[in-house]
Amino acid sequence: MKTVISGGTIVTASETYRADVLIEGERIVAIGTDLSEGADRVIDATGKLVLPGAIDVHTHMDMPFGGTTSCDDFTSGHVAALHGGTTMHIDFSTQPKGGSLQDGLDTWHAKADGKAVMDYGFHMIVTDARPEVIEELDSMVEQGVTSFKCFLAYPDALMVDDDTLFAVMERASANGGLVMIHAENGQVIDTLVKRAVAAGDTRPGFHYRTRPAALEGESTERAIALAKVADAPVYIVHVTCAEAVDAIARARAKGQKVWGESCTQYFYLTQDDLDRDGFEGAKFVCSPPLRTEADQARLWEAIRRDELEVISTDHCPFNYEGQKTLGRDSFAGIPNGIPGIEERMGLLSEAVWEGHLTAQRWVEVTATNPAKLFGCYPKKGTIAPGSDADIVVWDAEATHTWSKETTHSAIDYTCYEGMETRGVPTHVLSRGELMVEHGQLTDAATPGRGQFVKRRPFEFERPGEFVGPVEARETAHA
Ligand SMILES: [Zn+2]
Repeated sequence: MKTVISGGTIVTASETYRADVLIEGERIVAIGTDLSEGADRVIDATGKLVLPGAIDVHTHMDMPFGGTTSCDDFTSGHVAALHGGTTMHIDFSTQPKGGSLQDGLDTWHAKADGKAVMDYGFHMIVTDARPEVIEELDSMVEQGVTSFKCFLAYPDALMVDDDTLFAVMERASANGGLVMIHAENGQVIDTLVKRAVAAGDTRPGFHYRTRPAALEGESTERAIALAKVADAPVYIVHVTCAEAVDAIARARAKGQKVWGESCTQYFYLTQDDLDRDGFEGAKFVCSPPLRTEADQARLWEAIRRDELEVISTDHCPFNYEGQKTLGRDSFAGIPNGIPGIEERMGLLSEAVWEGHLTAQRWVEVTATNPAKLFGCYPKKGTIAPGSDADIVVWDAEATHTWSKETTHSAIDYTCYEGMETRGVPTHVLSRGELMVEHGQLTDAATPGRGQFVKRRPFEFERPGEFVGPVEARETAHA
């Protein structure tokens, strides 16, 4: 099967140019002019952008958390992603407390097997660091799970102490793993939460009041310091505030191997949303919490200045009815997490129109850097001969109004109800197969066709193989 995407403007992280894309089977085989002859199918992209399929490296499908389970599985979550122009994600498998990493990985493979519509990978959340667990990290790398996450938040659930984090970092430094950190000071937050609840301050707005930005900044600094001593690369997930961005920027300026991501919601929503009338604020409870407009400005600046490298979603949907309402009597009982896998690319397309970032930078932070940092570039994350034909044809001028009715996640709300954005995917291809056409899922988009992507070890420090995001950094580091 030969497919040609003709007449569009290709946007990669480094270039913008007009050309046809020839796809044979699952791969891109050529880029050039007038390639349509002999094609079985021609997709006319005249006047549209042709983008690499976006990659969301931070999602939680079918994730048990806070006494309930996130409401998208690997089918509904993938359908939502594809409708929004995302063609791959990396989800978090979790080591069961006291169990092995392999137990966790097997559990998550079983969640995705037979259900995945698009391609996916796994990170591994480490919850304890018995010596045999640390040894097992090598086996994860061999199985293509080359990133490990530690939580400095959520005591009694996922949080690890500094010793555990340090042990994971030291092993990662040797085996090619990238350590990801949820950076918030969980113990002090726990104290603040208990105090608020005891004082009767139980409405959703106390979620952000008990998780101040200073405690994210402190935790980020601590993680970076431990990574320096362990000589390990580190990636701070969902950075929300100036304190944390500044910590990352300082370490990067000194040449330390530190990267950071933020998520769509931190650019578009604020803590005021948590103070909405009644219990409505529960729809906006995620951790770290939404912050201020000043923090949003710092995040945009960080994206422009190359201080943050990725915009993901932390897609972790809980229905308002029946799940968020578990916390009706106290914000401490509201499951932490909000949806966003479908909304991300549309909202960030609007951000390009608004001048927050260029179209190339948009592609870089949503597709190319995720693929490079997480060991699957150039199979994923760009448009080039040999790459998987994960491609999105994007009508940058079409408008879209977000609502529960027009989104595809299993969840019963969107955080962006009524918001209008410019930019809509008209065609979404996964490994050469058309998944979504003008907002309609195709018959080819079947559960079970999605494949697990075995990722390579982190490559920053290997001369000659370097594919990290900021080439100049290598010189600075030397
Ligand atoms: Zn998360």
